[in-house]
Amino acid sequence: MKKQTTALALFSGGLDSILAARVVAAQGIRVVAVKFVSPFFDYPILSEPGTYRQRIEKLYGIEVMVEDISEQYLMLLRQPVYGFGKNFNPCIDCKIFMFDRARQMMDEMGASFMISGEVLGQRPMSQRRDTLNIIERDSGSRNILLRPLSAKLLRPTDAEEQGLVDRSRLLDFSGRSRSRQIALAEDFGITEFPAPAGGCRLADPILSKRIAGVYAGDFVIAPKNIDSSDILCLMTGRQFLLPGGGWLVLGRNEKDNQVLERLKKTDDILIYMHEHPGPTALLRRTDALYDSAAKLAADKELAMGLVVRYAKKVDGRCRPQVVLVHEGGDISCRRQEPVEGLEYRDWML
Ligand code: SF4
Repeated sequence: MKKQTTALALFSGGLDSILAARVVAAQGIRVVAVKFVSPFFDYPILSEPGTYRQRIEKLYGIEVMVEDISEQYLMLLRQPVYGFGKNFNPCIDCKIFMFDRARQMMDEMGASFMISGEVLGQRPMSQRRDTLNIIERDSGSRNILLRPLSAKLLRPTDAEEQGLVDRSRLLDFSGRSRSRQIALAEDFGITEFPAPAGGCRLADPILSKRIAGVYAGDFVIAPKNIDSSDILCLMTGRQFLLPGGGWLVLGRNEKDNQVLERLKKTDDILIYMHEHPGPTALLRRTDALYDSAAKLAADKELAMGLVVRYAKKVDGRCRPQVVLVHEGGDISCRRQEPVEGLEYRDWML
């Protein structure tokens, strides 16, 4: 019996990647998709990869595996060869990295070729013909990367030339219009899919500025020492660099508060109120950022005062509140006055 051909699909979870996988699977090829995650995109999947796999299988009939690329991705951001897009998004290097990684995985799993959902001319930079060529070249995926949605407009790949894939059943999509994708999705019975252009926080004008500042060295932690958890903190709530040298994050809402609680590490201090609505605060990396107990104590005092300052007002005014301080293995509690004046605004990142 002839062995079934296997293809590895790069899967963003967007409609194009879903369709690319389905177009190839419709030819009787086994398609295994890989979903890359980093603190900048789709990180929450890592807490429940099994649920994600089941959902994708159920919604789209696609077998998917989840791969955490955080560590290497943080390194990539330090000096991407092709620079950044409009924000702090290193799209070309990002794609090269992902394709390169997928190519290695392809060899490990015995797949014959790779698939991606790119559509020629859909995005200004990363999906121009010359850029697609650069990405193929630098990721070592020339001739083995099939882009089923635009394949008829591109050079035939090895999989087409070897007859593993019927080129006549591939597509010739190009440009920004989504109408053909939506019609194709209907043909496949796909009704639920994410809206385009979401997801990557590096393309977010506000968050990416914050991350760019960190990578430019304007932060208390050097880029080489930043880890995934730091990035997740940076993308949550309000940020302060305190006069004693500390880094404080203040939740803006309940969701942020829960994130900060989950991100607490052993040398972080968590400050919150039990009986009054308001922010949870995380004073980060106290071991690394303080060279004296006095500076730490002063910043901790300010952090407690800021929690109360941003708490829900009572009769239009900030009132003293009881705050809990979770430090090391201990939890202490005290009545705290709000920070006074407006100087704290200068500490905001
Ligand atoms: S938008 Fe983000 S995830 Fe997408 S290619 Fe660019 S950097 Fe990578």
